[in-house]
Amino acid sequence: MISDMLTLKFDHQLQELLPRRYRSHRNVHYPLDRRASIKDIVESLHIPHTEIGSIEREGEELSFKYIPKDRELLELCSFPAGIDVTRPTLLRPEPLSAPVFMVDVNVGKLARLLRMAGIDTWYDPELAEAELARQAAAHDRILLSRNRDLLRRKIITWGHLVRAEQPEDQLVEIIILYGLQGVLEPFSRCLECNTPLRPVDKSAILHQLEPLTRRYYHQFKRCPDCGRIYWRGSHHQHMQELMTGIQDFQDG
Ligand SMILES: [Zn+2]
Repeated sequence: MISDMLTLKFDHQLQELLPRRYRSHRNVHYPLDRRASIKDIVESLHIPHTEIGSIEREGEELSFKYIPKDRELLELCSFPAGIDVTRPTLLRPEPLSAPVFMVDVNVGKLARLLRMAGIDTWYDPELAEAELARQAAAHDRILLSRNRDLLRRKIITWGHLVRAEQPEDQLVEIIILYGLQGVLEPFSRCLECNTPLRPVDKSAILHQLEPLTRRYYHQFKRCPDCGRIYWRGSHHQHMQELMTGIQDFQDG
């Protein structure tokens, strides 16, 4: 007996996540040998549901629960750059109130860079996978990871499979994907603990400064939680360079 067949058309970004044997095909022919939702089918092809921006059949949008039928053609698209996570969609009817993040240990260096850009980012390398997923969901944070199994967890609605390998490229990837270019606020958040920094008078911290810092810098901020002191020194310059890089990327 010939089994029922479904045709799936993935956009370029999703196609790259498919198992190697499907990657060169424009359409994937998928045998429907069991009753399964489109979400289950997509994840059986190793694509976490977090990467799917929309599912359509002949222009009609479908939800993750949709059970595909024989000879249907479904089109699956990734998220376009500049996702607005505060807007409800059919796939994610409960939007977030803001783009805030939780970072998995496999992209741990990204946490510091996001904080450097002023983006609210939780990172706890001690958390086990299940707890990490639970915390991200409970606190409405977008989970950033390179671990597909973690992102496939049911509890996760908002997540992203980070594609870039270098932390600085990952930062650019996240800023562009979530359209954060306009909300960056370098030098505003503690790199160690994510707490928003507060300005502090130089005179109050003079005894904590190295001689050269004391001499050349005049504006300081302090983390009200861990007490670390920040000034517009090397971090700030590094951040400016990264931001210029993002601008060049967009212009180019
Ligand atoms: Zn701190």
